[in-house]
Amino acid sequence: MFIVKKIGKIPVFTAGILIGLGVLGFIKYSSGSRHSTKETFSGPKHDFTLNALKNKDNLVSLAVIGSGPAGMMAGVYGARALRDTVIFEGDKPGGLLMDTTDVENWPGENAINGPDIITKLRAQAKKLGVFFLQESIESADLSQWPYRLITDNGTQLHALTVIIATGATPKRLGIPGEDENWGSGVSACAVCDAPFFKGRDVMVIGGGDSAVEEAIQLAPYVNKVTIMVRKDTMRAAASMQERLKNYANINIWYNVELQEILSNDQGSVTSVVIYDNREKRSDTVAIDGVFLAIGHSPNTAIFNEQLAMDQEGHILVTDRTQKTSVAGVFAAGDVEDSTYRQAGVAAASGIRAALDADQFLGSIGITKEYMDSLNEQLFVQQLASIVRDIPSFFSVNDLKAYEKSKDTIMFVIFYSDTCSSSAQMMPIFQEFCQENDDYLFAKVNSDAAQELVQHFFVHKVPCIFAFKNGELIGRCNGLMSKQQLGEFAATFQE
Ligand code: NDP
Repeated sequence: MFIVKKIGKIPVFTAGILIGLGVLGFIKYSSGSRHSTKETFSGPKHDFTLNALKNKDNLVSLAVIGSGPAGMMAGVYGARALRDTVIFEGDKPGGLLMDTTDVENWPGENAINGPDIITKLRAQAKKLGVFFLQESIESADLSQWPYRLITDNGTQLHALTVIIATGATPKRLGIPGEDENWGSGVSACAVCDAPFFKGRDVMVIGGGDSAVEEAIQLAPYVNKVTIMVRKDTMRAAASMQERLKNYANINIWYNVELQEILSNDQGSVTSVVIYDNREKRSDTVAIDGVFLAIGHSPNTAIFNEQLAMDQEGHILVTDRTQKTSVAGVFAAGDVEDSTYRQAGVAAASGIRAALDADQFLGSIGITKEYMDSLNEQLFVQQLASIVRDIPSFFSVNDLKAYEKSKDTIMFVIFYSDTCSSSAQMMPIFQEFCQENDDYLFAKVNSDAAQELVQHFFVHKVPCIFAFKNGELIGRCNGLMSKQQLGEFAATFQE
């Protein structure tokens, strides 16, 4: 069975343009290696004295950017080392594993869903005391210590150490018709979009493990899948290629490259121009959908010119550690790994990064006791007082457009400004929202959103609906205490 798991936007840790940083020594090295040599690896020399922390607010010992397996395990080890640790979950919480179905090579599991791995890791990290913030880091200034990070919500903090675990984004071909048809016939996520191609003919571009996985995810839905491989062999592991034999409707076409994607006036993909690089001939082939599986680019834009990177933008780490070219800044997972790119390896590198960060903090005299003494200056102290914004929905489209609700349970409260029970319920709902960042929340003013009221047959407010993967999974009418709200939420936990 396939579960729709798209979390909307492609993961982008959008490039905040950093002006006048005056950082020394960065450099995109031509080295393809994931470990650099000492000669090519030097960042700014900071003065790591405790004086530098005076008069700084929102201090955090360990800021982890990204919430895939690398970020989660960095969090687990950070918290276990009793470091105040915050994970910034980013635009795509959980990372690429959220788009994966069966994972058969995660330690200790015969087969497990990608999102289930993330759910377990998140719960483990949270139990150990990691703080999660559903925000992306939009800019980072590594030119001064403590390092200044700014989130997409404008939250500014000062991190004593940073672990970059921002992962990677699927690559694009850069051919005509690709951008124009993106999301309506061109996709990089079969798990998300396969159900839209029922009974149709589709292509998967690429010859690696991802291409095999995409084809297998598409096969049960579509009429025919053709894997388009540009060489005369596939790069995918033999075991992965073997799995293809179980699917009669998957074909492989070798020595072909895509040149253009064509669509009709309705914006539906109709055909592609392919180039047979053996016959040296171009042809137009009818097709309904194109799925790209041609590798990934590391999400490092905000660190350009600040950290040593290879030509593809992977952050270089050194000396068999996760240390980057800036002391106190570490990288883990696909953002630095151009070789192995496995969830298990990413998790392990997150562990290493956190151990490195802990060791670094110790070496400059930062202890838990010292951090506790800073009290009001600590970001984690402030976190408790940040009021989570509950978005308002006005139409069915608002609800549908709230793509992040997929995979995460979302509670939507219908209320009325003129109803005293609603007035009592809203602060309880807000408090519950504040204490439960595992869920998403939204509110509907029933006086202003008649379409939603009629669509969901709301006859009484307050009334709370629960959604998952865009589907209604439960509802509860009337005024509730926080405990009752918790019990209602608990009924949806697997
Ligand atoms: P890979 O880099 O391994 O493969 C990319 C594929 O895309 C290659 O076949 C490459 O061709 C092809 N390609 C690249 N650019 C183009 C282009 N412009 N036109 C046509 N084809 C192109 O990436 P994957 O995403 O497949 O895998 C990344 C990593 O993730 C790997 O380490 C893989 O093992 C792992 N993975 C593991 C899975 C699992 O274990 N279940 C599932 C998915 C991924 P060429 O060979 O000619 O360079």
